[in-house]
This record gives sequence, structure tokens and C-alpha cells, in this order.
Amino acid sequence: MNFHIISVVPEALASYLNSSIIGRAVGTKKIKVKILNPRDFTKDKHKKADERPYGGGPGMVLKALPILQATEKILARKDPKKTKVIIFSPGGKLFTNELAAQWAKKYTDIVMISGRYEGIDGRVKKILKAEEISVGPYVLTGGELPALIVLDTVTRKLPGVLGKDASVEERRVASGEVYTRPEILEYKKKKYRVPKVLLSGHHQNIDGWRGERKSL
Ligand code: SAM
Repeated sequence: MNFHIISVVPEALASYLNSSIIGRAVGTKKIKVKILNPRDFTKDKHKKADERPYGGGPGMVLKALPILQATEKILARKDPKKTKVIIFSPGGKLFTNELAAQWAKKYTDIVMISGRYEGIDGRVKKILKAEEISVGPYVLTGGELPALIVLDTVTRKLPGVLGKDASVEERRVASGEVYTRPEILEYKKKKYRVPKVLLSGHHQNIDGWRGERKSL
């Protein structure tokens, strides 16, 4: 899977992409991540990728042309049927685990356009026929966290990315409530025990208990 992230603050992405399971997926070439900065597609000497909004208002708006040209560069050698282009917006379609699983199966390339400031010139969405995606009903500062959320969730669905196939949450009974050592935790003069069922070795009962506490 190839992920392409279009962002005017690429430095916000690096540490997450280099860490843990995602860093390993990059290292083992299960995924490729390319980051394009719209500023590199500007012509003026200040590399200005934003402008004041028509109609007035406090913030700036990301200009259409640098983003369109960055996207065009990515799409030039891609199969449109296997490439998904999304624009992040708090008002978009809610991103879910099911969408991630579909995309992991269907696409070889996911292009993610991250907004900043007041957002992206509305013509980008129209011209690219891109789907607007939200990662939740709240407003973030930019689309970089949403891009990492999508990349992470989709990557976990790719065969061979998680150590054991059984680690993929959808293929086993995974609980939102988990415990590790010590068996009895003493904290501020109180004792907190691990639920007995988890110590029983009875896998059916353990799965039943986990099933009741599934997070998803
Ligand atoms: N004024 C814009 C609006 O109400 O749609 C919000 C702009 S927000 C400060 C800047 C950028 O962050 C957005 O263009 C979008 O790319 C991204 N963003 C913020 N919250 C998001 C969310 N919940 N889901 C996806 N993207 C989000």
C-alpha cells in the first residue's frame, strides 16, 4: 500500500511514521509513505500556499493550485480504480474500521489531502472528485493527525503487518479491558485484583468475558 500525504507541515508527521508497528511496516516495505508539500508547487519566491478567504474572515485558506499540482504528480502513474483520494474535513464522512478494511482490500494507493487554517479552497474537492473524510465530530488544527489515523488503521489491516495474524482485532475476541502483572496491584493502601476468569485458563469463559467488553 502506498500512502501519499499532502501537507504544508510535513514535520508534524515524522515521529509517528518512524515508530513501532508503522515504522516497522515502512522498514519491511509493507507500506510506502510519501509526503508532498504544496509549498513546493508554488511559483513565488515566498512559496506561499495560502491566501486570505473570499468573503472575509480571520484565517487563511490553502490555495487550490499547489494542492492540485501535487495531487496530479501523484496520480500521473496510478490506476484510478485502485487509487483513493480523500480530503480531510471535520464535516466529512466519518472514518470507521469498516472503511479502513475496505480500503486495505480495494486500493494500492491512498492520497490524503490535509487542510490547515480555515481549510482548503472548495474547488479542490470538486475538481478531484475527492471524498471528504472526518475522523470525528471535533475540529483539529490540521489534517495531519487524521492522515496518521487513516494510515495507521488501514496499515493494521494489511496482511503480515501485525506480528501474528491473530493480532488483528476483528479476527479474535479482543476486549477493551485488559490486564497484566502484577496479579494484585496495591495502590494507596488498596488492593486491585485481576478478574478471576482471566486466571482460570478456561478459554471459552475468557472469550465470553472479553466478548462482553469488546471495544468495537
Ligand atoms: N473551518 C474548517 C471547517 O469548519 O471545516 C475547519 C478547519 S480546521 C482548523 C483545519 C483542517 O484540519 C481542516 O481543513 C481539515 O483538513 C482538518 N481537520 C480538522 N478537524 C478534522 C476532523 N475532525 N476530521 C478530519 N479533518 C479535520
